[in-house]
Order: sequence, then structure tokens, then C-alpha cells
Amino acid sequence: MFIMEGVKRMDCISIVVPCFNEEEALPLFYERISAVLSEMPQIDYELLFVDDGSSDETLPLLQALIHADDQVRYLSFSRNFGKEAAMYAGFSEAVGDYIVVMDIDLQHPPELLPKMYQMLKAENVDCVGGKRVSRTGEKKLRSLLSRAFYRVANILSTVSMKDGEGDFRMMSRRMVEAILSVKEYNRYSKGIFQFVGFETRWIEYENVPRVAGQTKWSFLSLLRYAVDGIFSFSAVPLVLASYCGLLFCIFSFIMGIYIAGKTILFGNSVSGWTTLVCILLLGFGLQMLFIGLLGQYVAKNYMESKHRPLYFFKESGGMKPKIEKDKRQLDRKSHVRSL
Ligand code: UDP
Ligand code: MG
Repeated sequence: MFIMEGVKRMDCISIVVPCFNEEEALPLFYERISAVLSEMPQIDYELLFVDDGSSDETLPLLQALIHADDQVRYLSFSRNFGKEAAMYAGFSEAVGDYIVVMDIDLQHPPELLPKMYQMLKAENVDCVGGKRVSRTGEKKLRSLLSRAFYRVANILSTVSMKDGEGDFRMMSRRMVEAILSVKEYNRYSKGIFQFVGFETRWIEYENVPRVAGQTKWSFLSLLRYAVDGIFSFSAVPLVLASYCGLLFCIFSFIMGIYIAGKTILFGNSVSGWTTLVCILLLGFGLQMLFIGLLGQYVAKNYMESKHRPLYFFKESGGMKPKIEKDKRQLDRKSHVRSL
């Protein structure tokens, strides 16, 4: 049908914002992002908040916001499922041609969005991300551990993850579809973004402290997330066990020859007890360590095999952008044309 041919519709950008107990940051974020989006008249957009089971006023604020602004939508989880699940839900529900994911605490500057969009269009790539080039304002211990994590993760893992290259990015729909097709339960987005491929450009920005509220990451939860990251994208720890075992075999073979030789030449005196205990303890320790590593993979496999949903919705609100209808029509027409 030629009527639809030549029809140019505006690009629609979906901005996915996971939020968990963000009553303080939400109004500040909304104000800043709205100012930025009002400077982008050439695009249509939807602001898609994903309330990750907040127990504060975040949900009532979102419920009020959809009445004040019809470009706002929200999804609300039945409990806290974590940011990874919130991002997945946002990606699955977003209707835009381009999809952005960003934190609500304004640590991801909304002012980068116009440049990201321009770069995506001009350079014809599938992803433009924000790359944090400093860690100013962050706790020293956290910076130190994060750096150590990236070093270890990159040695062990098959995909390369760089410090500063986080979740904040604008992606094409086809890249998001690829991410959605990775349906694993133990999700580690930084690795999944790398895993799906697609050309990515980076825009650098300085770290800024969270605008309001508290970080949701405790030291332990960060550590767990980091360990998850390593185990999700690497089987190297498993292989390590075999190398270690081999090394021990070679070592004990040499020791065996040495002890046998010594006994033949000089007779058997009951010495070497300390050496024996040390070797035994080391051996036991390593065995336990590797059983533990094996357990990590078994546990992950166990969770995967349950095929549990990543999240449950409690409610949602707001209207999908009208563009989706137009898009569906276009899709149908192009389908008809191709028949
Ligand atoms: N977040 C979430 N669910 C969680 C934890 C965090 O949706 O269980 C959201 C949070 O509201 C924020 C983003 O993820 O928009 C980043 O969280 P935070 O700022 O606490 O992390 P940090 O910047 O300290 O890494
Ligand atoms: Mg933050």
C-alpha cells in the first residue's frame, strides 16, 4: 500500500529508568531529564520507570506523574528483584526505536542524550554509551576493589569488560532484541552487552556523586555481583582446578623419587613430619577451594534449570506512545508489501 510509503515518522526513544526506593531522587531526575528532552523536538519519547519493589513513596510519586505527563509510564514489581531484572523488564516493555537505560540518581548525566542520539544516527552504530572516566567522590575502598575486579574479570573472562563502561547507554532496537534473547537467570549486564556484540561508541564523562538518597549497593552485595560477573562469563576457575591438580601430581612424583632415593641411600629416619603436615594441609585446602568453585557453577546451573521468571509485575501505569500504533501499521504494511 503506497499510502504508507514515504511516510516519515519521528524516531521514538524509550528511556528505561530502574528505581528502588528513590523518592528523593525521582523529582530531581524528572526535572533534569524533561529539560533535556524538551530540547530534542525531533524525537518522540517515553520515560519508562521500573519500580523495583520500592517500599517508600516512589510508586505513589510515579502514579501521580503519569497523570501530569502522558509521556511517562511505569511498571512496578511485586517485590525487589534487583536492577538486572528491572532493566530486562524495561527493555521488554519499551516500544522505542532506540532504548536508553540510565540510573535515576543523576550519576548518568541526562545532558549526554542528545549527543548519544546524534552519534547513533551519524555514525550508524548500534550503541553509544557513557564512559565514566573518573571515580571522584567514590569511596576509596570501593574504587580499589572495583579496579581489582575488572583486572581479574578480564584475565578470566572471554568477554572484555572495562572499568567505567557501565549500563548507561543508548541502543538500537536490534541490539536490545539481542539482549532480550539472552534469557539467563543469573544476569550480568556488563557482560551481556559485550556478549551480544554490535558496534559501540563511547562518550566520556566525569563521575558525579549521587544527587539524593543512598546507594543500594552494600559492600557484600557488590562483592556478590562481582563474583556473579566472573562466574557468568568464565569457566576458567573450573579449568584452574585441573591445572592445579596436574601441578600437584608432578610435584608429588618428584617428591616420591626424592624420598625413595633418600631412604635407599641413607635409610629411614622418621623425620619430615612438618613437611608432611604442610603438604597435607595445602592439599586439603586446595581440594576444598575447588569443590567450592565447582559448587558455584552447580548452584548457578540449579537456578538456571528452574526457569523461574525474572520478575513479577504488581501493576503498571501510563500509556504506550502513540508511535507504537503507527509502527505496528508500518510493520503490517511492510509485511503486506513483502507478500
Ligand atoms: N536499583 C534498582 N534495584 C536495586 C538496586 C538499585 O532498580 O535493587 C536502581 C537504583 O534505583 C538506581 C540504579 O539502580 O536507579 C543504580 O543504583 P545505585 O545508584 O544505588 O547504584 P550505584 O550508582 O551506587 O552503583
Ligand atoms: Mg548510583
